[in-house]
Amino acid sequence: PSFLSTIPEGPPDAILGIAEAFKSCTDERKVNVCVGAYRDSTGKPWILPSVRQAEERLLADSSVNKEYAPIAGDSKYVELALKFAYGSDADLSSVAGVQSLSGTGACRIGGHFLSKFVPKPEGLAAVPILIPNPTWGNHISIFRECGMDVRRYRYYDSKTNRLDYDGLMADLKEAPNGSVILLHACAHNPTGCDPTMDQWKSISDLIKTKSHHVFFDSAYQGFASGDAEADAAALRFFVSEGHNIVLAQSFAKNFGLYGERTGTLSVVCNSPEEKSAVMSQLKLIIRPMYSSPPIHGSSIVKTVLTDDALTTEYYANCKEMADRIRSMRMRLVEVLRDVGSTHDWSHVTSQIGMFAFTGMSSEMCDQLTSKYSIFLTRDGRISLAGLNEGNIEYVARAIHDVTD
Ligand code: PMP
Repeated sequence: PSFLSTIPEGPPDAILGIAEAFKSCTDERKVNVCVGAYRDSTGKPWILPSVRQAEERLLADSSVNKEYAPIAGDSKYVELALKFAYGSDADLSSVAGVQSLSGTGACRIGGHFLSKFVPKPEGLAAVPILIPNPTWGNHISIFRECGMDVRRYRYYDSKTNRLDYDGLMADLKEAPNGSVILLHACAHNPTGCDPTMDQWKSISDLIKTKSHHVFFDSAYQGFASGDAEADAAALRFFVSEGHNIVLAQSFAKNFGLYGERTGTLSVVCNSPEEKSAVMSQLKLIIRPMYSSPPIHGSSIVKTVLTDDALTTEYYANCKEMADRIRSMRMRLVEVLRDVGSTHDWSHVTSQIGMFAFTGMSSEMCDQLTSKYSIFLTRDGRISLAGLNEGNIEYVARAIHDVTD
């Protein structure tokens, strides 16, 4: 028998497996509140009008071709993406940045880079990275695959449905000096719960004291408040405090470019010389992995962000998505009350971003799926983007039934 016969069946992906189950479900009442992709008020995927216009321009432009991008991607796109994150007036002369395969690919390049170059704390065989508990599930596998020692820090108190600030601080304090700390830049997934600006300040101070390294994962810039500038406040603050942050950016959600795999990975260095050395190493990581990134999504972002009218339109499109999601958040709690739920759902309205972290148990989630064909992850997370006026009462009644 060949070695193939000994290979065990691996488990399906926690989130994408549910998406498959939704697709094959034949119940016409079915609702998908699992995957974090925007849906419009009729439940359909939405191509941002600014993105559509950029694509039309690209199609009509006879100078556009399908040549390979450089290893680090389209440098003009990267510059625009970095200005989007660090601010339009940011000095990028010491910031190394490369194009990436969306946020996942950025995390992977960043993890590989840190694993290779961060000095291992004494006695440890791998660089420790602390990720929040809970977090986006893929973080665990990504950083493990990069050869890092994946650990957790407390983030959420499920009794109070609030940030476990004391637990977070205690765990960062306890970690070996020089660990990597992964922070969600805004709209923490799945809890929708971010530190306040005062808390960010204390986290920054503690990280300095401990000589930790900061990895920001920014997958929702613009989605939290509707304003991409406001949503970058935490990461910009850390840069202003002198941290040499590593930043993973995704344009999947805020530009609706999920399948285009458009992102960047950047490292804030101390000098142009450091930037140059870091760039060379990032390229050495990328070249044997996939040579160079795809160009369609980055051309769209570049086209939008180099044109004032398209940029203005884009910001309005992004705000429209954030506003609709926010209105669904308010409506869900309102309708839960209307259908008779007496639970305290105030945490849902104080959360931000794409998700409601409801606090429902895995058993309750299972019941929602088996009894009502409502598909969600078993941690009680609901994608508010999947809700609309056509299904919100059905979902609220179902939640009331399983939580009553
Ligand atoms: N980080 C977080 C916290 C996310 O929620 C996501 C998307 N679910 C990503 C990164 C990356 O997504 P993508 O690779 O599609 O950009």
